[in-house]
Amino acid sequence: MFAVSASSLMRPVETWLYPASLGLYCEPGDFYIDPPRPVDRALITHGHSDHARSGHAHVLATAETIDIMKVRYGANCAGDFQAAELGHTHTINGVSVRFVPAGHILGSAQIMLEYDGRRAVVSGDYKRATDPTCRPFELVPCDVFVTEATFALPVFRHERADSEARRLIQSIARNPERTHLLGVYGLGKCQRMIALLRAEGYDAPIWLHGALVGLTALYQNLGIDLGDCRPASTAADADLIGALVMCPPSALMDRWSRRMGEDPVRVFASGWMRVRGRARQRGVELPLIVSDHADWPELLDTIVETGAEDVWVTHGRDDALVHQLSLMGRRARALALVGYDDDAE
Ligand SMILES: [Zn+2]
Ligand SMILES: [Zn+2]
Repeated sequence: MFAVSASSLMRPVETWLYPASLGLYCEPGDFYIDPPRPVDRALITHGHSDHARSGHAHVLATAETIDIMKVRYGANCAGDFQAAELGHTHTINGVSVRFVPAGHILGSAQIMLEYDGRRAVVSGDYKRATDPTCRPFELVPCDVFVTEATFALPVFRHERADSEARRLIQSIARNPERTHLLGVYGLGKCQRMIALLRAEGYDAPIWLHGALVGLTALYQNLGIDLGDCRPASTAADADLIGALVMCPPSALMDRWSRRMGEDPVRVFASGWMRVRGRARQRGVELPLIVSDHADWPELLDTIVETGAEDVWVTHGRDDALVHQLSLMGRRARALALVGYDDDAE
């Protein structure tokens, strides 16, 4: 008789988890992760609109992600919802599934899958930097690590978020007659910037563009302390002098911003602000380099720490990351998944 070692019977991860036409698919579990189009069974890493879509029959996600989806798309945006408890193992058709904090935004999770003795971790989006509005990233050793690559170029190194918040507070103090207009991505960055400013002692009311009000109220309802936040539509003109007003990036230069006086200080908080040209393009006077995604060193450190033999890259600067990992002697490939927004943050 020939001895057959257990390891030779294990099926490689790519035989049971692979990109299909509707997104990343787990065949034995018969579910998709963050599918860009409606499917029967979807596991969702977090509430950003390119990962969480409406119209799935069944959704498994953290309770916070489910709440975010309902605020964005309405209570009936999926056939049914099941809340995944962090750290608890769910079994779906023989596949072990565990949601683990990703440190990206409130409710964000990596999804760990185990099947046939092999482990894959689908990280969704993640960061390692501290964020008072969500649980910190937890490292899970795995055979295959599926990573984003939004800021996967050596030029991208984010600043410390607390010192960037202090720079904004100093600018407000130096310009008591000008409104500061801060452009932020509406889910995650908005609430994180508010929490950072509060932690640095800024306790004046913060005025919000209408597009930011609902999700900020949800964060507050879920117990994240953001202090006195008010809809900008309720402000008298005098209230806005020397005040901080937050808006989506698209509103920084549009008609709406004309309410902010002759000469507002335009501020934008994003990992993209590392690129001077991007700040200039948007008319940004005070660029803040704050991101909810891993920067270049964080991506590489995290991948090495997982010990993964194989790295699959979902979206972003996948070619640069795959190249760097191959120089480091690791197997890496781009999944070329469609439907993710490489730029939003
Ligand atoms: Zn995201
Ligand atoms: Zn993403």
